Amino acid sequence: MKVLLFLMSVIFFYSCEEQEKEGVVTLKKERQKPEKDTAILAFYNKNKGDDKRSNSFGVVSNGKLENGKLIPFYGKNFSYFDKGSYLSGRGYVNDKVLVTLLESYKQLETLVPNRHFYIMESANKEGGKLYPHRTHQNGLSVDFMMPLTQGNKPYSQLDSLGTGHYLLAFNNNGEYGYNKSVKVDFNLMAQHILILNKEAEKVGLKIKKVIIKTEYKDELFATEYGKKLKASGIYLVKRLSKLINALHDEHYHVDFGKR
Ligand SMILES: [Zn+2]
Repeated sequence: MKVLLFLMSVIFFYSCEEQEKEGVVTLKKERQKPEKDTAILAFYNKNKGDDKRSNSFGVVSNGKLENGKLIPFYGKNFSYFDKGSYLSGRGYVNDKVLVTLLESYKQLETLVPNRHFYIMESANKEGGKLYPHRTHQNGLSVDFMMPLTQGNKPYSQLDSLGTGHYLLAFNNNGEYGYNKSVKVDFNLMAQHILILNKEAEKVGLKIKKVIIKTEYKDELFATEYGKKLKASGIYLVKRLSKLINALHDEHYHVDFGKR
């Protein structure tokens, strides 16, 4: 169901399947040296934004963004997940959210130096509808790729699919449908969420809501950082429609808001 429903939306948005396949191949090459990709560099330099404060209006499902800042395409231990999405201007956030993201990755550099993280879609430059997402409208929502492991070792072979990553399907235990030895790293996801919330608080924000497949909670809360996450009081969504639930098995969606 996930593939059928979402594929239609994504393929429609990104024009055609052929381009999508080419995009994946190109992206793999570019990922190795994103600092040499002139299109990405030029886009970032033109659109990164200024020093003016951002303003987020309305709510995540009906809002807009003023003075939004473009997330850098890559850093030491993180990357934006898709060049096409990036160049289409779908990687903007409120300035406070940007500080929160960058600080979280800085901490993860020391805490888990062997891991690379991926940011998925956030918002348009001026917010508003970000098709096909239902929220992501005011620069306070960010999708993050769930980190994966295989035999307790980091697993990165599914990281370079670009927008196709949204289509991956995992079972209720967080195991990849086509290879059950590949599994969501619930402990690391919980650790990142806790760091995000701590950094958000430093700039006057907090995590208002985390959306993940609801069946994941048992696995998540059984881990070391999952226990801390449960005790933290950070709100994890309790019920979702079948479609929205199925879409949140390979990424975690975070809504930030005022403290
Ligand atoms: Zn989302």
